[in-house]
Amino acid sequence: MSITEAYERISKSKINFSDNRQDFNIQSCVRDYDTNNFTGLFDHNETMLFSNIYPYVEGRALLADELYNLLKMIGEDTQHGQTPEGTSSSVEANGLTTDMALLQKFLIFTNALIIPSVISKKDKFMAKIMEEIFDQDLSNQFKNGCFRCGSKDLLETDCPRCKRRCFVCRECLKMGEARSCTPLFLFSKEQNLQLKIKISPEASFGQNKLESMPKGKLDYDYKSDDLLENLPHLDFDLTPAQKEAYDMASEFLDREEKKALIFALCGGGKTEAVYGAVKKIIKKGGKVLFATPRRDLTRELSHRLEKAFPGIRINTFYGGFKNKLSDGEFVVSTTHQLYRFYRAFDLVILDEADAFPYRGSNNLPLLLGRSLKKDAKLIYISATPEKSLLKETKKKTAYLITIPARFHKKPAPLPKLIKVSKKGMEGNNGKFSKKITSFIDKNLDLNKPMLVFVPTINLAEETSRRLEKYLRKQNYLKKQEHLSNDADNSIASIVSFSHSKDPKRDEKLIEFTNGKIKILVSTTILERGITLEGVRVLVLFSNHDVFDDRALVQMAGRSGRTGADPYGEVIFAGEYITKAMKRARKLIDRLNKEALKKGFIEE
Ligand SMILES: [Zn+2]
Ligand SMILES: [Zn+2]
Repeated sequence: MSITEAYERISKSKINFSDNRQDFNIQSCVRDYDTNNFTGLFDHNETMLFSNIYPYVEGRALLADELYNLLKMIGEDTQHGQTPEGTSSSVEANGLTTDMALLQKFLIFTNALIIPSVISKKDKFMAKIMEEIFDQDLSNQFKNGCFRCGSKDLLETDCPRCKRRCFVCRECLKMGEARSCTPLFLFSKEQNLQLKIKISPEASFGQNKLESMPKGKLDYDYKSDDLLENLPHLDFDLTPAQKEAYDMASEFLDREEKKALIFALCGGGKTEAVYGAVKKIIKKGGKVLFATPRRDLTRELSHRLEKAFPGIRINTFYGGFKNKLSDGEFVVSTTHQLYRFYRAFDLVILDEADAFPYRGSNNLPLLLGRSLKKDAKLIYISATPEKSLLKETKKKTAYLITIPARFHKKPAPLPKLIKVSKKGMEGNNGKFSKKITSFIDKNLDLNKPMLVFVPTINLAEETSRRLEKYLRKQNYLKKQEHLSNDADNSIASIVSFSHSKDPKRDEKLIEFTNGKIKILVSTTILERGITLEGVRVLVLFSNHDVFDDRALVQMAGRSGRTGADPYGEVIFAGEYITKAMKRARKLIDRLNKEALKKGFIEE
């Protein structure tokens, strides 16, 4: 069964789409397709209107409500004078939300794929379409589920839309109702791979359409070469390790592999390494997605990219952010937002691919497959890549790019793995193991800040108190003459704790950064993002489940980041040595050795 046959079969079957306001009759759209002859179907004005709105919907997966809202938003956007000269007014854009015949013509013009949002039972035609849409072999795993988000978690309810019982996707509920009676519109950005293209020359997406499109922000192909030639803007030089990765990532686009892995040391500067590849895609008129695991990272990245790529329109997507137009060349989003796209991107960069939410998710890999154009490229970035991905690089199905060194050309501190009894790490009454206290004493003497990681919130508070007790017993302040005269300094202010529920955590972080707090006991909340000169890292209870290899590499990655004090020190203390501890050490060691071999670092 070909995909075209499957689609024809589905579109002829009796699926009645309806919602409260409008009847979407898939059959009436499809009947028009079946005539195979659209000559004269669209008049000039319609062609202009549709061509101008198309860039806003192409590459998107939209529920009926979302399509309405988007069309309204385009109306508002165009009202504010942002549309290129001589194109549609808001009234016309809004026309699509009120005039059913016009909307149906638009759907025909854009060759939208219209399918039920969820399917609730096994159906071989639907299964075929599902594989096509998510671009993977789902033979035994996906018999029913949601086309919008890839979830299989459906619920049968009385439906206010179709007034019968139908299925709704639970996963989608917080971001709109995906139901078996509600259509999902998929607007491909791939002009040649549409499922059924038999449109007249006037309406086709080939040469004719491009000629009819006015020049303006909607048209990627007209970016001037001058503008692009000077990109990206960097206010620093790339390190030799970054430069090599930068060139390899650009070169990857011309290689056979569809996937690449950028395996980077924490603090190696991984983001800049993809700039060349991004530029290359934009230059060709293509579209790029840069997805990160969290909102704060997305916001920060978006600012950075705006500086590096001035003149390029960057659309940012994360939960709760209002402006959801995606008509730019460059989309920056959280991984969760992948549910918005369909065959949209020529290049997708997936940052921290080994982290939540991507790792362990069933839906997100499906949505990633759906967001890519068929000939698109995918770059994973990680400091702790999954074994399966590393294996692929060995089998040459994924292209390996490494950034094994930091800018200061010194190796990353290799964690020391030590065994300490539970009691020795708990430190009741300040009685810690000698192995722990020697680390504390030495670094206090050297006046180096210490980050002590523990697995739980309780332990963070307790360990902080017990370290305080230890220092009291040591008469620490009396030994430090320069501190004992300072009224502002008590032992309580030298040791502190931080965790997600601590209301003072921002203040404490500032005190730690400016040197007032010398020992900060923290949960994994500080495992990334903090860069502090000279910081030493001790992980207690490293054998605990929360400390997987990824977390351990991140925590170790806090140390030795700055040029003034590049060596640092990292200790993983556990009741026993776990596989995760060994693997974390091995990953860091591997990059150090490679950096040495390539001459990126001096020992
Ligand atoms: Zn319904
Ligand atoms: Zn869903």
